[in-house]
Amino acid sequence: MNRTACPLCALERTPADAAGLAWSSQHEPDGSITWICPTCTRAQLWRIEALLAIATPTAPAAPVPARRAA
Ligand SMILES: [Zn+2]
Repeated sequence: MNRTACPLCALERTPADAAGLAWSSQHEPDGSITWICPTCTRAQLWRIEALLAIATPTAPAAPVPARRAA
């Protein structure tokens, strides 16, 4: 089941939102999709451009991506 609320501000994604293109989708490793609301999408645009995840399914992503030791 996909979550329908923005993980950053908890805004519910309505059927009207689903019909539009304002929300951005983020595909999770487990195959689910996290939807980011338009406001948070704009606020986090730099992360998208940097190819960083915007958020985890339940909370904002870490400010700096965790680096794995090589
Ligand atoms: Zn939001």
